[in-house]
Amino acid sequence: MVTGAAGQIGSELVPALRKVYGEDSVLATDICAPEGLIAQSGPFEILDATDEQSVGNTAMRYKADTIYHLAAILSATGEGDPHLAYKVNMGSLYSVLEVARQQGCAVFTPSSVAVFGASTPKDPTPQDTVMRPSTMYGVTKVAGELLSDYYYLKYGVDTRGVRYPGLISHGAPPGGGTTDWAVDIFFQAVEHGCYTCFLEADTRLDMMYMPDAIRAAIEIMEVDRSRLRHRNAYNVSAMQVDPATLAAEIRKHLPDFEISYAVDPIREAIAQSWPRRVDDTVARMEWGWTPEYDIVGMTADMIEEVSSRLSL
Ligand code: NAD
Repeated sequence: MVTGAAGQIGSELVPALRKVYGEDSVLATDICAPEGLIAQSGPFEILDATDEQSVGNTAMRYKADTIYHLAAILSATGEGDPHLAYKVNMGSLYSVLEVARQQGCAVFTPSSVAVFGASTPKDPTPQDTVMRPSTMYGVTKVAGELLSDYYYLKYGVDTRGVRYPGLISHGAPPGGGTTDWAVDIFFQAVEHGCYTCFLEADTRLDMMYMPDAIRAAIEIMEVDRSRLRHRNAYNVSAMQVDPATLAAEIRKHLPDFEISYAVDPIREAIAQSWPRRVDDTVARMEWGWTPEYDIVGMTADMIEEVSSRLSL
């Protein structure tokens, strides 16, 4: 069972899970009806993940054994409405963990590099380090890691998770995060040949291409539980990207592409508080994490996929 399945990650995770486990074995749910394939290629239910009773009834009806909990309010949207971010992010995680405790489900919850803050070492950011975020999103992500650990330690719920960096994809549009620019830039480059970026040219952040993120989510849930020591909070990394460097890489495919800057102080401040590069040695050692895409491979694939999407 997947919550928040209509979003940037869910719209790619659900088809991937259905490929591995069978179309009828993966229930997609979201508070909104999704566009595209996920409602047609297998079961879908409208579900508010903060409503514990509905989550419980739905999990029971479909005999869920694993919950991929993706429903959330992301960083930039969360700063626009911190009360909503708290209510959705904490409320939905609590519902899901309670249902998992009562019904014996395993739970995957993505954490984020937003758990880190200005006082965290930025390059590299260690696995175990200072976590004092300055955004409501980051606060809910730190609390989410701790709550998930608590449900494992206290009740034996099989909770697992990774700290995703910014995710780049060509499927569903990103949901109001600080790294959305790294998706928009490709659509604007292919369609218009230019892009105005809301971050500074040299603001470098850790990023990952969606196929690697999806593989991480499936692999961590498949690995033997005895191997996992840092259950809910694995740093995972793939590439380090800033707007000027990505623009130069795009220019190798679209030589006339131009980038300009209109910096948004709110998103720039959030980006400045996040790691430049996380150290993911622990994920590599404990469950064999290895990324497949670097900035070169990701850019080539994104240009091809976005071009074919826009030509349709
Ligand atoms: P998204 O914003 O694209 O999708 C979130 C989905 O949750 C949306 O479809 C929305 O309709 C749904 N939702 C919101 N409130 C809900 C509720 N009350 N009940 C049920 N559904 C609800 O987000 P995403 O990028 O797919 O992120 C999924 C998870 O991954 C989140 O926990 C996010 O914090 C985490 N994450 C994402 C990124 C990224 O770059 N996309 C990076 C790090 C971590």
